[in-house]
Amino acid sequence: MTTYRSFYPPVRTLMGPGPSDIDPRVLAAMSRPTIGHLDPEFITMMDQVKSMLKTVLKTENELTLPVSAPGSAGMEACFVNLIEPGDKVIVCQNGVFGGRMKENVERFGGTAIMVQDDWGQPVDPNKVEAAFAEHPDAKILAFVHAETSTGVRSDAKALCQIAQKHNALTIVDAVTSMGGIELDVDGWGIDALYSGTQKCLSCPPGISPVTFSEKAVDVVKGRKTIVPSWFLDKNLVMGYWGGGGKRAYHHTAPVNALYALHEGLVMLLDEGLENTWQRHELHHKALKAGLEAMGMEFLVDEEYRLPQLNSVKVPEGVDEAAVRSALLQNYSLEIGAGLGALAGKVWRIGLMGASCNRRNVMLCLDALENTIRAQGVELGRGAAEAAAKVYEG
Ligand SMILES: *Cc1c(COP(=O)(O)O)cnc(C)c1O
Repeated sequence: MTTYRSFYPPVRTLMGPGPSDIDPRVLAAMSRPTIGHLDPEFITMMDQVKSMLKTVLKTENELTLPVSAPGSAGMEACFVNLIEPGDKVIVCQNGVFGGRMKENVERFGGTAIMVQDDWGQPVDPNKVEAAFAEHPDAKILAFVHAETSTGVRSDAKALCQIAQKHNALTIVDAVTSMGGIELDVDGWGIDALYSGTQKCLSCPPGISPVTFSEKAVDVVKGRKTIVPSWFLDKNLVMGYWGGGGKRAYHHTAPVNALYALHEGLVMLLDEGLENTWQRHELHHKALKAGLEAMGMEFLVDEEYRLPQLNSVKVPEGVDEAAVRSALLQNYSLEIGAGLGALAGKVWRIGLMGASCNRRNVMLCLDALENTIRAQGVELGRGAAEAAAKVYEG
């Protein structure tokens, strides 16, 4: 008979595409006593979470709240509330997550008009213009701001402007961008956006912040058909998360996970939004200097590179999977593999949230250099010095 014992995970350094490292303060917040999800003290905390989310997203949207499920549920919340059967949605795909948007559109009875760009390239605004010219009746434009599968940043502001010109709503995937690079919901005119806690917000996975503009809320309220998901129906969730002090039971909020998000947001705002973006930029530059000293190349052109997700090409002659398992085995360090067409060709090195620090950058450079050399592949020298030079300015 098996005797089950407590599970003690190894202590890892998480430098993949998420989850990322979690600050001890956040983990400590999570282990505080559970209270009722309608307890007045809890509701005060919920109001603070909503208000901090608004600050981080730069929005006044009343409908800003954390969905009690991971980023994929936030994605679904946006699509299921805004799409009715027969709606046309222009979906931009330049990696894994645009493909999921298409599936969402089709499952809710919409028609997805695909705008395709190569993996590793940003969404091309000219192609989006052309799609609107061909489909002036498109109701929504959907795109991924920060494509985690490739490490590309698309120009969210420009894409939103195109949608506005054509009276279309926008759905924006900001799972990896929120807290890592500039994001301005109201300034850019984003109508519906979803994110995730485990990327740049330094929190455990399982919660998805979302926000809906007034225009998007009007569309949800004016639906001819009922929202086909009970759990994600924003009309119902608002009874619990809405203001006015008359909270009604909808579902049991993940109380302790929300303590974690609260703490993560407190820490982010303590640091300052702009400072957080700058920190991601600085450590990306140091990592880049080190990798380039070794002779490694980035997948993405500098102009579109995400500081928080670095896709680097696997050097000739290197067994990429063996490197990743050696990093895990010998350094307890996790980096990400390539997905889809990029499988076996790139590593994805995350510098997200609490993972984005000098110690991690230096560890990763040292571990990669030693591990690749051990495979008998020659590399350029001086990675650590090159990175240190960036820090010393
Ligand atoms: C991680 C991620 C998601 C999905 O989030 P989950 O929390 O894994 O469901 C969606 N979009 C992007 C861009 C992501 O990086």
